[in-house]
Amino acid sequence: MPSTEPPPSAADGHRPLVLVVDDDPLMNLYAAERLADGGFDVETVEDGPSALDAVQGRHPDLVILDVQMPGMDGFETCRRIRQADQGRHTPILMLTGLDDLASIKKAYEAGATDFATKPANWTILAHRIEYMLRSARSASDLRSSRARLANAQRIAQLGYWEWDIVSGEVLVSSQMRQILGLADDEPLDSIGSLLRRTHPQDRERVRQELYELVEDEQSREVQFRLRLAEDEERYLRQRTELAVDGSHGTKRITGVVLDITGQQRAEDRAHFLASYDLLTELPNRRSFADQLDISLAAADRHDRQVAVLLLDLDRFNRINDTLGRGAGDRALVEVAHRLRTQVRRSDSVGRPGGDLLARLGGDEFAVLLTELKDDREVATVARRLAAAVSRPFLVDSHQVVLTASMGISVFPADGTDSETLLANAEAALYNARARGGDSYRFYSADLNADAVERLALETDLSGALDRAELRLEYQPLFEAASGGIIGAEALIRWHHPQRGRVAPGEFIPMAEQTGAIFAIGEWVLRTACESAVRWQRSDLGELSVSVNLSARQLECADFASTVEAVLADTGLEPHLLNLELTESFLLEDVDRAALALEKLKELGVRLSLDDFGTGYSSLSYLMRLPLDTIKIDRSFLNGTPGEPLNRAITTAIIGLARGVGMEVVAEGVETDEQLEYLRLQGCDTLQGFLLSRPLPAEELEGVLNLPATRQRKSSDASPTTFSATAKSGTGAGSLASSGGNA
Ligand code: C2E
Ligand code: MG
Ligand code: MG
Repeated sequence: MPSTEPPPSAADGHRPLVLVVDDDPLMNLYAAERLADGGFDVETVEDGPSALDAVQGRHPDLVILDVQMPGMDGFETCRRIRQADQGRHTPILMLTGLDDLASIKKAYEAGATDFATKPANWTILAHRIEYMLRSARSASDLRSSRARLANAQRIAQLGYWEWDIVSGEVLVSSQMRQILGLADDEPLDSIGSLLRRTHPQDRERVRQELYELVEDEQSREVQFRLRLAEDEERYLRQRTELAVDGSHGTKRITGVVLDITGQQRAEDRAHFLASYDLLTELPNRRSFADQLDISLAAADRHDRQVAVLLLDLDRFNRINDTLGRGAGDRALVEVAHRLRTQVRRSDSVGRPGGDLLARLGGDEFAVLLTELKDDREVATVARRLAAAVSRPFLVDSHQVVLTASMGISVFPADGTDSETLLANAEAALYNARARGGDSYRFYSADLNADAVERLALETDLSGALDRAELRLEYQPLFEAASGGIIGAEALIRWHHPQRGRVAPGEFIPMAEQTGAIFAIGEWVLRTACESAVRWQRSDLGELSVSVNLSARQLECADFASTVEAVLADTGLEPHLLNLELTESFLLEDVDRAALALEKLKELGVRLSLDDFGTGYSSLSYLMRLPLDTIKIDRSFLNGTPGEPLNRAITTAIIGLARGVGMEVVAEGVETDEQLEYLRLQGCDTLQGFLLSRPLPAEELEGVLNLPATRQRKSSDASPTTFSATAKSGTGAGSLASSGGNA
């Protein structure tokens, strides 16, 4: 607190002003004369209240006060002067006629600075006054310099304390009290109570520093934290010194303490920003790389394995694209949370040992696995992570299902430095993704070659459509009851000039990733529709065409208008177009999928769910969607009808679907037993190599006797049937045996 006291006027060269208070006017007159001779200005008053007024109004440098006055006596007047702001520190000399100890004591208690007895010797008194003024000036100087110091300490957030080791006494400055969170009147009686306020984790270190200071007398600096409340910490930097005074036998430690909490917080924040991802609060790429280095060094020393697992969410962009970035962010936070539950000690940045989960950016996460026994352990973790990611969740009330691709590299087999390990895990990840996602891959040396090759293939694919390397084949669909062909599924083929045939399972995921799927998909749709129109114009009757759709096409807001345009351009009747969707699309976001399907249904096209049974959808859920057909995945026909579980599932699916009026297609019929069994179960439509392989359009049309020679009328057209298989080498029978081009 800055001093409020006026500077003593004597200090600036003026004559000091002395206020004389006595009820005897003669006395006053005499005193005034004597003091004026001694070099003072003098003011006189004759009672207590006037004295108080004069102190407030004139700021005398000293007051001479008679004890015995009528009304307010000298003691009371003295007390009142002390209570006033202006008189708190003014020297007061009391004149007492009673030379007894009791009134001297009373004078001091009232706040007097000194006393003299009456009758006074004014010449001597003038010297005494001189002396009193001088010491008042020093006291005032001291007070204001203390106030300035305290102010400076407050501004600098500097605290100060002293500990007398011999007496144990502790002194703290007011700023130090503030730093310690101590109230002004709260006692601080020992160094122990100071130490108790330090953070438990730092306390021993601070105590140790004090011991050492006493030992070696070297001043030192420490940084430590205070723990003021459960959730309030302060960071301090403290400099301590030991002062030993041999002659007085004192040993004192003084500490100057700087509150660096604000600075520390800024540093912590900067460190956090540099090392963590703000969205998920996971360590970032940099921290991951640093931690990987630390772990590799430790693993090398202890002959241990370390695995790097990179995880990338499959087609995550569609969440950003369709629901907005905010939703994408919330989905990432949810994924981070789930991954965290699967990783031990996921936050062990800066320490060797312990696993670490980090977000490398975008939808890419990384897991560092230490203390591994074998590869199987990594695979287990990968499966756990996959399971954690794939549980459906809600983002802005949309149900979302995500899957992840993972690539794994292991130290020391796949690399001995972090850069190589990361690059190799990346190659493995790329491979997992290219295989359609939702899986994990370990790095192997040929993956790099693979990656290079895939990159080349991707480039080739982008021009494949223009170079007319893409073709469609059609695999007939047979009506189980009649054995007649009722439609065909369009299946894309890529004839690569050097590599020959590339399987759609290989290049479709690639096209989905690069975005080539949009152009390719539209071309497939248009070409298939054109074929169907040719068939329709024939005399053979109406054949539907089935077209496979990629989830990415369906996610396009204007996909329905593309279909509408293609139908209009080609002139195909909508009910002859059958669009095949996959479960993954339906599950990703139920509401959006339902909306997209409704739009397509409005066009009058038919919708099929392909590969049913490979995903997670329940039939009851699917029943709520406007689907016309489900296609049982061919994996369920494995061993059917001999294999009891597959048989049970197939039977149940057929029964349930028919129960709700959905058509059931069985794909992948390869044996007569399967065919027989499916017909018996009431499956509507059959597709499979047994009946026909996928055929080039001309071949199919040739077999169907289309289109050039329209000799036959639809009335007498003998439908190509699979029952003909056994009978002759013509019709569908010839399809089944001649279609060996897969
Ligand atoms: P999908 O839609 O389930 O097509 C059926 C797949 O099963 C075809 O494989 C077909 O050749 C094969 N298949 C049919 N009958 C049998 C059988 O009896 N035994 C066996 N082992 N396989 C049989 P393909 O042509 O290799 O196509 C694979 C997948 O690629 C398709 O599965 C489909 O998901 C996708 N695909 C094909 N063409 C296109 C396309 O134009 N666009 C999109 N988005 N995907 C396509
Ligand atoms: Mg299909
Ligand atoms: Mg299928």
